[in-house]
Amino acid sequence: MSRPKIVILGAGYAGLKTAKELCKKHVDAEITIVNKNDYHYESTQLHEVAAGTEPASKISFNVVDVLDTKKATFIKDTVVKINTDKQTVDLKDKGSIFYDYLVVALGFESETFGIPGVNENSLPLVNIKTAEAARAHLDKTLANYQKSKDELDLSIVVCGAGFTSIEYLGEITNRIPKLAKTMNFPADKVKITCIEAMPTLLPMFPEKLGQFGIDVLKKRGVEFKVGTPIKEIKPNTVVYEEKGELKEADAHTIIWTTGVRGSHVIGDSGFDERRGRVVVEKDLRVEGYPNIFMIGDVSAVMDEASGRPYPTTAQIALKQGGSVADNLARLLNNQPTEPFTFESQGTVASIGNNCGIGQVFGKHQVKGYMGSAIKKSIINKSLLDVGNTKVLLKKGRFDYYH
Ligand code: FAD
Ligand code: NAD
Repeated sequence: MSRPKIVILGAGYAGLKTAKELCKKHVDAEITIVNKNDYHYESTQLHEVAAGTEPASKISFNVVDVLDTKKATFIKDTVVKINTDKQTVDLKDKGSIFYDYLVVALGFESETFGIPGVNENSLPLVNIKTAEAARAHLDKTLANYQKSKDELDLSIVVCGAGFTSIEYLGEITNRIPKLAKTMNFPADKVKITCIEAMPTLLPMFPEKLGQFGIDVLKKRGVEFKVGTPIKEIKPNTVVYEEKGELKEADAHTIIWTTGVRGSHVIGDSGFDERRGRVVVEKDLRVEGYPNIFMIGDVSAVMDEASGRPYPTTAQIALKQGGSVADNLARLLNNQPTEPFTFESQGTVASIGNNCGIGQVFGKHQVKGYMGSAIKKSIINKSLLDVGNTKVLLKKGRFDYYH
């Protein structure tokens, strides 16, 4: 009899962790992992690539460098559709593959909320390609000022003030003064505006802690607009609503960071989803599909304490990967699955290379240099989790002092 086929879609935090853990368990199954690139990237550091403080090579590594290729097969291809009736997955170039068990971990995409002009006129930060495009655009536009003397070349609008926006603002406000010297533009003429729909900034943190982070960015020159939902993005213009009136902010660099959704493949494959996410059962399987697990940013896991889904993070994606590997091993041994359990270790947001704010180990607050040092430790730990010691030594962030 042929061995059961386990297929994992996506080699992000959730998918790669599942594959690595399954390999360690020596399960009697054929394991295949499919990813559109031959590399894994640390999505948690995309803002650094987008701002130009780190190259893409610093936050990515080859999947096969960390995968036990004697136990698992890697396929570089793009998943187009999952056919649950035939138990197959359609790939863009290599046809269809059959599965007995499927782990869907296709991650996140930019969310436009149907706002006109977003795709055409702004730059999202959702993968290596979009982050590199944002960096190239910013560098070109800032450099162009010397020739154009157009102040819009020095104007940047960041849409939304979630963690991605705050971390991106932290990086660009670190880098721009350095660029001003090499590209010869006046740093004091750079205008950075962040436009947020909600009335409060960083509501997930206690007020004083959030305010500390916002004050750091304000001191570095960022202007925040709050309670001002964006309605349209025109070429070089963000249209937002303020006190019932439509207003415009002009800039030659417009960064779109108003949130993410799960992969479009989930909807295209007919799953019962909302914004590309499926509410999964307690063991992370999809209701009605006992051989399909859905994890990471394509899943919504209910937090019974709050009655709402947990925020989609790398932290939970990694934990889910471990849980699914355990449950697959149980299913292969004809044992019942166990429920996924999660306790957040906390949240830390960086504000550039030497500052951060967060709440860790329960309600313990960290800020400033300590916030930054803890953030770097967390990132190194997750790099070790999804990569290996060699990758950590090559890519890790060991400069805790600058
Ligand atoms: P992803 O990391 O998105 O991985 C999905 C993988 O699937 C990728 O390799 C992708 O190339 C591949 N893929 C996608 N579509 C296809 C397809 N059709 N075919 C084949 N392959 C495909 N979370 C934290 O916990 N801490 C943080 O500090 C943090 N910082 C963040 C900073 C930024 C700037 C951003 C954007 C997010 C941050 N997050 C953080 C959230 C975190 O990055 C995500 O929750 C996490 O990446 C989800 O992991 P995942 O494995 O589900 O998806
Ligand atoms: P988010 O959804 O957390 O934040 C998006 C922000 O944009 C929100 O404040 C929202 O109110 C605002 N917004 C939405 N529509 C808008 C509009 N029309 N006009 C103006 N503002 C608008 O998204 P994110 O920051 O990309 O984060 C995505 C996920 O990744 C979250 O789960 C987050 O927790 C996680 N993440 C975590 C970290 C960290 O832990 N350090 C860093 C980045 C992202």
